[in-house]
Amino acid sequence: MSQWLNDSMKIIPISLPTPFYIGTVNVYLIAEDPITIIDTGPKTKEAVEALRAGLRQAGLAVSDLRRILLTHAHEDHCGMARALRDEAKDAEVLVHGWETGHRAGRLEYEEHRQLLVRAGVPPDEVEAMRAVYDDVRQYADSLEEDHVGELRDNAELEFETGALRVVHTPGHTPGSCSFLREADRTVIAGDCVLKRITPNPILSPDPIDRSRRFRSLAEYLVSLARVRSFSPTLVLGGHGDPVHDFEELFNRYLRAIRERQSKMIRLIPRNGATAWEISRAMFPDTDDVHRFLAVSETVAHLDYAHSEGKLAMEIGDGREVYRKLAAD
Ligand SMILES: [Zn+2]
Ligand SMILES: [Zn+2]
Repeated sequence: MSQWLNDSMKIIPISLPTPFYIGTVNVYLIAEDPITIIDTGPKTKEAVEALRAGLRQAGLAVSDLRRILLTHAHEDHCGMARALRDEAKDAEVLVHGWETGHRAGRLEYEEHRQLLVRAGVPPDEVEAMRAVYDDVRQYADSLEEDHVGELRDNAELEFETGALRVVHTPGHTPGSCSFLREADRTVIAGDCVLKRITPNPILSPDPIDRSRRFRSLAEYLVSLARVRSFSPTLVLGGHGDPVHDFEELFNRYLRAIRERQSKMIRLIPRNGATAWEISRAMFPDTDDVHRFLAVSETVAHLDYAHSEGKLAMEIGDGREVYRKLAAD
């Protein structure tokens, strides 16, 4: 067995700096045909230099890349995809069809604005979030529609000495994907599994019905259970150290989610509150940059608690107001 594994494809992590609070991002190189990189890092000089150095250590250059897989289309993961594709002379770029962050002219401001208004975010805060978003956007180049192929759930990506299976793991974003090497149950999980922090479910329109919002936390819990069903021996996340004990992390996540839900429900005043108001009570010290993440997280929890029948929700004045049930 070990003999055989030694011959199988190597997954080489390369850590790249990002200008974001999260710190470095991990991309993964599969240094055999077709030479593949999973995620790219943001579009910064520092990240591209670190990536070139990482490739060089493996005896490779950007021009050798044949395939670029994106776990999801956040700027720290997809930012350089366009530049790498161009430099590698039309390397194939693959991303799940439910991702939108890499698309040219994606700016779904209107859809997002409506989701924020419904969550009770005041107009000046919506504007501030838009400014933050515009700022983050500079770290990614868009890809044209015909530059991108689709990652499909369960598809098998073949390499010279092994294969990766695409596992659609929505939650953090609707089109987040992980990659499973069945031979030794290694999972490359993007931001679905992070060692130190519980990944943030980001407020997004539902990919099927864009007037609704994506039920990110419910989807995320299903994705976590799916990863668990592989009994992974090693999970490689988009940030931080590898996870060797997924079972421990899985239970820790569930506990954290449950605790956060109870705390959030307790914070709802007698006369009800919007997700925005609850997010300000829940995360009082967040600065501008992180208020969008805070309200995303809050909406995700409230949606989930509502779907579990733990909260009432009604729409007044175009905004959703959550109330505790009488029995609580
Ligand atoms: Zn992300
Ligand atoms: Zn990330």
